[in-house]
Amino acid sequence: MAGFSYGLIRDMKKSVNQLICTELAVVMKDIYPKAKFHYLVLPWEDIDTVYQLSLENLPLLHEMHFLGSTVIQKFGVQQGMKEDCFQMGFHMKPSMHRLHLHCISTDFVSESLKYKEHWNSFVTDFFMPFESIVQELQEKGRIEKRPEQYVIDLLKTPLVCNQCNYHPKNFPDLKRHLANHLSSTGSGTEAIN
Ligand code: AMP
Ligand code: ZN
Repeated sequence: MAGFSYGLIRDMKKSVNQLICTELAVVMKDIYPKAKFHYLVLPWEDIDTVYQLSLENLPLLHEMHFLGSTVIQKFGVQQGMKEDCFQMGFHMKPSMHRLHLHCISTDFVSESLKYKEHWNSFVTDFFMPFESIVQELQEKGRIEKRPEQYVIDLLKTPLVCNQCNYHPKNFPDLKRHLANHLSSTGSGTEAIN
């Protein structure tokens, strides 16, 4: 399995990358974090995306969520980030193989957040919250693929701050604005322009 898109499958096996490791899943740091805190939870089972999930994977999903919550407590909250300043979920169209649950702080202050598409992948419906995935699985028995054009359009959504109603002029303006939120509160929640 060569190629960048297999990097998670390769690196999750290296114990140096494993923040937590259980029989079912492993947690590692996102190598290009898009916020102050950004972790990925991956199952050992060869499940590529949410679209391969079935009802029998619900216990696995709950373990992945538990591991995500644990790592958020252990690292994020211990370092002063509020617990409610995290979101957990899956990308609608992931770029990397092996199912991975993003556990990310909502400040989105990071040098690795470089493109509008990075931003929109976490703040629009492109980001499928953990709870909504569980609900869809319970209701339909599977996760339905969304139409390709809808997915593409989500990543082109105009910029709006996730913490107030500010409409940034451009991406550098958004980055400055997010940094101001973080420096004024330490956890990036108060409205400031
Ligand atoms: P997605 O768009 O949901 O497929 O996100 C894949 C995530 O994996 C991105 O946030 C990347 O920064 C991250 N990533 C890519 N390669 C690695 C790696 N080798 N180890 C850890 N994280 C990675
Ligand atoms: Zn704002």
